Amino acid sequence: MSNMRKTTIKLATISLLLTCNIAQASSEVNVYSARKEALIKPLLDKFEQSTGITVNLITGKADALLQRIRIEGKASPADIFITVDAGRLQRAKEAGILQAIDSEILNANIPQNLRDSDNLWFGLSQRARTIFYSKANVNPSQLTSYEDLADKKWRGRICLRSSNNIYNQSLVASMIDNIGAEKTLTWATALVNNIAKPPAGGDTDQLKAVAAGVCDITISNTYYFGRLMNSDKADDKKVVEKVGLFWPNQNDRGVHMNVSGAGVTKYARHKDNAIKLIEFMTSAESQAWYAAVNSEFPVLETAPVSKALTSWGSFKADSIALNKLGENNRQAVELMDKAGWK
Ligand code: FE
Repeated sequence: MSNMRKTTIKLATISLLLTCNIAQASSEVNVYSARKEALIKPLLDKFEQSTGITVNLITGKADALLQRIRIEGKASPADIFITVDAGRLQRAKEAGILQAIDSEILNANIPQNLRDSDNLWFGLSQRARTIFYSKANVNPSQLTSYEDLADKKWRGRICLRSSNNIYNQSLVASMIDNIGAEKTLTWATALVNNIAKPPAGGDTDQLKAVAAGVCDITISNTYYFGRLMNSDKADDKKVVEKVGLFWPNQNDRGVHMNVSGAGVTKYARHKDNAIKLIEFMTSAESQAWYAAVNSEFPVLETAPVSKALTSWGSFKADSIALNKLGENNRQAVELMDKAGWK
């Protein structure tokens, strides 16, 4: 009898545990994000409010989070991996930590070139990596293309971010696809020959260096300039006054574009919630938020953009499939090394 009772209790306990697990499974989602909390949390809060699904957020460096998901394996609590740059999203794909998602909403909201060809990752916001110039020392009529920055008229006048940053790696990867490796190497070698000082600092540092007269030209993601435009600091305002934005390659392939994006992890325990959250991030409201808060371009074509973004004027964007940026990454890094790009 006591045996029988024990079994009953055990079964009851097990079924209770199962019920709890199911309840939990339907009410939460775990996000590992390489984006800073300020650039993602408000959106996650909105999702929580509108769906009742609790979002647990862990932030960290992209490569460390990727490694963590890989090491955690099947036991990983992560349902979604969020990071910036198609090159890093491709790394996550190649590391085998993501699973393919078939979502009509994502396919409809995100242009094909801004998501993975195997549906493993999805672009959520776009950034343009463009040319910035000193208004005092450069007439924008002298500017045409990324290729032209290799011209000797720019000798000693260019500031560049280091080659170990993925943004320039992805730019070079796009050029390998567009003009071929040989021409890209010739270009990169001549470009490095034109620098004013050894590469150092982030994109904002390059913009500040142009404003300070250290160099006349740089390449930066547009949202860094947008942040300076939206800043209340007098120093930042001065930088914006002194620096101009130029859209290159308007007569051919267009401006180099990249994305921030997300994928559902291979062993996601809250897969449905994870899909729901990524879909939510492509809604008109979320897309407008990216533009307003971080000066990024929406992936959803119908989403409204902020004042800062419209003030830069319309431009032709390179429509290269962003998978290529990741696929060409290793070759780009080797090529930059050969070119002497520190
Ligand atoms: Fe950035």
